[in-house]
Parts: sequence; structure tokens; C-alpha cells
Amino acid sequence: MSKVTQNYEQLALSMGMYTDGTVIYGVRGGYELSIYATDSRYPYLLTVSLSAKPQNGIPFSKEEKKQFAKNIAPVSALNQQGNLITMVMKNTANQEKLRENLEAGINGLLSLLQSKYYVPCCQLCGEQVQTTGYAVGNAYMHLCQNCGARMRQDATLAEQENVEKGENLIGGIVGAFFGSLIGVLCIIVFSQLNRVAVISGIIMAVCTIRGYEKLGGKLTKKGIVVCILMMLGMTYVGDRLDWAIMLVKEVGSEWDIDFATAFQIIPELLAEDIIDAGSYWANLVLLYLFTLGGAIPTMITTIKDMKNKNVIRQIGSAV
Ligand SMILES: [Zn+2]
Repeated sequence: MSKVTQNYEQLALSMGMYTDGTVIYGVRGGYELSIYATDSRYPYLLTVSLSAKPQNGIPFSKEEKKQFAKNIAPVSALNQQGNLITMVMKNTANQEKLRENLEAGINGLLSLLQSKYYVPCCQLCGEQVQTTGYAVGNAYMHLCQNCGARMRQDATLAEQENVEKGENLIGGIVGAFFGSLIGVLCIIVFSQLNRVAVISGIIMAVCTIRGYEKLGGKLTKKGIVVCILMMLGMTYVGDRLDWAIMLVKEVGSEWDIDFATAFQIIPELLAEDIIDAGSYWANLVLLYLFTLGGAIPTMITTIKDMKNKNVIRQIGSAV
């Protein structure tokens, strides 16, 4: 059992709630609650969610939400989206503090809801019943029985369609290419600002993968290989474009060369040692390190998210 799971179990136990290791759940004051980390990399940056609506039909004002987060110190934000109410807690790895924070936040939220006559209801259809928690992909929902059953059916159908859907390799390559162009643009922009940044790697990865999925229909192992090759190739292109821009800026008028020529003659300039080969390659290696540093974790989470997209599971049938 991982340390996080152990801590979640401790936390759930001390709060009289339950956990499956990724989400803590239970009923407080008649409201069914889910407590989870929206980003698994930050397991103690927790969000509390529930579904309820005001009997008078008037949602919280912006001011009320802001005031609430200000009054209850451990709360960083209160959000309301339709019937879904989410409360984002401040991050702390200290387990004792975490529990105190949650208790204070939940108690505050419940008294706010009660004072405004909020009643628990299904997040989708609004029926006033005790809801059941569902994990839908990476999101958490609070649903009535009917809506829960329908979501499950939809998810099964979507999954089937995805399995049956063919992969269009050419479309995928074109999509990945256009996606990676955005990454190239980022490399150039950051380089012109004299910086190499992990963020261009993240953008390169997200856009390349999304591009492949968009035009290729779905992402398979073949698609992942295409995306990686595309990213490696386009990072090189981005770097060379960047050098070409620099050449035109520095010596463009002196040598009477345009951008296309500058792009073409870079290998020649390297061979003749006009561009210092050492710093050229060192710069490229650095760029690759940064790009991969951003791209690899992004690819892993993106692929994981895609796999989870159509997965729906009921949280705590014991509730
Ligand atoms: Zn419903």
C-alpha cells in the first residue's frame, strides 16, 4: 500500500468516512461528499464536492463565494457550477493539519448551505434525492439512480464505439504535424526571449498528441510512436528555424541572404566553423532535454487520461 493510500485511510477513518485509495467519501449533514485530489501529483491538494441546489433558485453571488473563502482560512476557493459545488482546500502535507482543515472547511460549507436552504440533489437532473458518487474519467459526479445508470450505458457505448473506430494513420500524422507546429512556435518564441523552457515541451506534447487524436480518430501505440518521432523531428526544425531567424537578424543585410537561404546554409556554416559547432549542439541537446522533460510526463498523463475517459465507476456502494 502506498503512503498516500495509507494517509487517505487514516484521514477517512478519523473523519468517519470511507476511501478506496483515490477518493474519500461519506455523508455529512445529509450531503453526500467526495474528497479528492484533482491532480494525482499533488495528493494533498484536496477538493471537496457535493451536489445541492438552493430552494429559492438563486445561486451564490460572486461576493458570497469570495467572502466564504476569506472567512474560512483553510479554503482557497468555493465554486458552483449548476448543482455541483466544489470547495478547493489549501495544500498541506501535514496530516493532522490536513484533517483539521477539512473539518473546518466542511463544517463551514455545511452551515453555509443550510443557512441558504440548499437541498441535496442529483447533479444532472436536479431531482431531490440522496445522491451516489461516481468517478467519470477523472471527474467526480453526484447522481441519482437513473442518471447513474444512464451515464454507465453511455460510457459503455462510447467505449464500444472507440474500440470499433478505425485508426486513420495518415490523418493522425497530419494532425500531429499541425499540432507540433504550435510547439515549434513556442520554442522560437521562448528562444527569442533568450530562454529554454520546459513549457514548450509540454505544449509540444499536448498539441502533437491532441492533433494526432483529432485527425487520426484515436491514439494507439502506433500513434504514440508517430507523435514521439514528430516531436523529436520538429524540435530540431524549431531549433534550426530559430538559428535562421538569428542569422537574418545579425548578418542578413551584410551577407545579403533571406530567411530561406539562412535556413538552408546552417549545415554549411557549421562545417566551415562559422557557427561554433560545440555551442550549436550543446544548445540543441539542452533544448531536447527541456522538451523531453516537459513532454514525457505530459504524454504519460495525457495517455492515462484518454484511457480513463470512458471509465465510470460508482464510489462507495456502501454509502
Ligand atoms: Zn438524476
